[in-house]
Amino acid sequence: MDCIFCKIIAGELPSTKVYEDDRCIAILDITPVNAGHTLILPKEHYADITQTPADVACHLITVAQKLGPAIMAAVGATGFNTTMNTGSAAGQTVFHTHVHLIPRHENDNHAPWQGKAAYQEGEAAAIAAAIRERL
Ligand code: AMP
Ligand code: ZN
Repeated sequence: MDCIFCKIIAGELPSTKVYEDDRCIAILDITPVNAGHTLILPKEHYADITQTPADVACHLITVAQKLGPAIMAAVGATGFNTTMNTGSAAGQTVFHTHVHLIPRHENDNHAPWQGKAAYQEGEAAAIAAAIRERL
C-alpha cells in the first residue's frame, strides 16, 4: 500500500519519533503549525477515524492525554489543539488515521475557524433530526 505513514511505521521512511507503544507511534509533523506539532498514528492502517476500531481510537486519545502536557512543557506552550481531519474537504491529506497535537501560545495568530451566521428558524432542529435519523 502506498501510504506515507505505513512506510514511516515500517521504518522505510525517516521520522522524528516522540513516542511508541504496541499500538501507535507519535512523530513530529514535518511541516509544523508550531514547533512540537505532533501526529499520533495507529500502527495498523485505517483511512480515517470512521474506519478505526473504537478501542484503537480510544487508545489514540489516551496517548494524546499523556503527550499533550509533555509537548506543552517541552516547547513552553500554554495550550494545545487536538484535531483529526476526516475527508479532503476537511483538509485530510494523508489517509491513514492520525491525531494532530498542536501546541499553542497566547496570540500565536493561529486562531481557530470563525463561526458563521446563526441558523434560520427551524433549521437547527431539522439538521439535528436528520443526524439522529442516521445514527
Ligand atoms: P492531514 O492534513 O490531517 O491529513 O495531516 C497530514 C499531516 O502529515 C500534515 O500536517 C503533514 O505536514 C504531515 N506529514 C506529511 N508527510 C509527513 C512526513 N513524512 N513526516 C511527518 N509528517 C508528515
Ligand atoms: Zn497507512
